[in-house]
Amino acid sequence: MKSALTIAAVYAHPDDGEFFAAGSLIKWAQAGHKIYAICATNGDLGSKDAGADSAALGRQRTQELARALEVIGGEPPICLGLPDGFVRENAQKLKERLVYHFRKLKVDRVLTFDPWKRYEIHPDHIEVGKMAAEAACFSCFPLLYPEHGAQGLSAVQPSEVWFMMPTEHKPNRVVDIEKTFDTKVKSLLCHSSQMEMLADWFVPGADPRNLTPDQRTMIEGGARMFLEGMAQGLAALAPPLKLAEAFFAQRVGPGHFQNYQQMFMEMAGAPPESPEVL
Ligand SMILES: [Zn+2]
Repeated sequence: MKSALTIAAVYAHPDDGEFFAAGSLIKWAQAGHKIYAICATNGDLGSKDAGADSAALGRQRTQELARALEVIGGEPPICLGLPDGFVRENAQKLKERLVYHFRKLKVDRVLTFDPWKRYEIHPDHIEVGKMAAEAACFSCFPLLYPEHGAQGLSAVQPSEVWFMMPTEHKPNRVVDIEKTFDTKVKSLLCHSSQMEMLADWFVPGADPRNLTPDQRTMIEGGARMFLEGMAQGLAALAPPLKLAEAFFAQRVGPGHFQNYQQMFMEMAGAPPESPEVL
């Protein structure tokens, strides 16, 4: 394996990764890997204010993702600008764009949503996970989108897809994020337009456009507690870790995942593999 990997986190909305993967992305950036975020939409539906300017919101959220990536230590974001809430209707366009960027960046590892997770209701999350996984498995075929070849890009074969929590299968990778947890919280708080949603959770009744300093502190404390609870829960997968993120990683082959042996063993009653702790 290459010593410095190119890792692409594929999101539906600008703040998706900060919840589920930022602690790991920060750790990998610090270790010298190159971190990219490819975001399918600009998140221009992400407001409960009927009078909000959707285009302005999309621009603001793109800037928030750029700031979060600076905190994480990643590269500037790649935003594909598909309509928020309608990724499913644009799935083939998304797949082509993902294959294009995987080839251009020579991506080694893809992080995304698990599209097979039961009770995942958000159609954008499901479709992004599905197309990112497909793009990882099919970007090795040069006859797929031959126009990329004409643009000087070569076919690539990312080696793994890591599905972010919540996953349908038991996680097989647990990443210790104790040292990067504070920065993870900071990266989430870059998404200030989403304070409205967080205010709903942590300071019910607050006016998100006119938060007092006390209310803002309560929201930030609430967000930290929420992330901490999740990280402590996942750390229980690999004692004595205190704070962790977890993933279900699949090795990628041409047009398929490479985990047949493990899958067959599990179907025959073997337990899932024990998580690798990183
Ligand atoms: Zn989302």
